[in-house]
Amino acid sequence: MPKWLEQAAKNDLEILEDGQCQLCGSDTLHGITECVATAGKITHKISQEKGIQHMTIFLCVDAHALQHTLIHGRWNNHFHLTRLHLILRHQVQWTYDLTTVLNEVLDAYKLKHADERIIDPDQAHRSAITVIDVDASHDEDEYVRLVWQWAEQVYTSFADSHPIAQSLAELFLQKCEAISKDSQQTVDEESE
Ligand SMILES: [Zn+2]
Repeated sequence: MPKWLEQAAKNDLEILEDGQCQLCGSDTLHGITECVATAGKITHKISQEKGIQHMTIFLCVDAHALQHTLIHGRWNNHFHLTRLHLILRHQVQWTYDLTTVLNEVLDAYKLKHADERIIDPDQAHRSAITVIDVDASHDEDEYVRLVWQWAEQVYTSFADSHPIAQSLAELFLQKCEAISKDSQQTVDEESE
């Protein structure tokens, strides 16, 4: 069974196979299964190199995950909302190394906030853009633009949980600073 179906079962989510996606409301013919399948290929609409450069490779994953919180582990939502906050509000240029740092920050955070949850926005406030709209983009420029709009709308829709993302982002930025001081010190020691 795919992981997302296992998570859905854990959350007592009954999968509807027809019509719009039951979680994000995207215009699918075959519901959430089609929505998830489209998300699986959406990052490949441009090269991996460009995807990292424009950060679409990260933003698509964050936006889709947050629109489908019932098919992910609970702490995934903390990760994705914090990464959106760092990219959209702190202009962090994301890399795979930073994913490792954020996971370490989150592991320590979980211990002190065991019961904390990211709450889904109600239907009236959720993002109007979905993965199906992004998939319909006609060229690379439109794709990049739509992904950033999608990420912004999803981030905004989670306004109630922005304070959580802010505190995690602070911890992340402190850790990055500590790492860069450490490596600077090593360089200084080596050049002595
Ligand atoms: Zn969906």
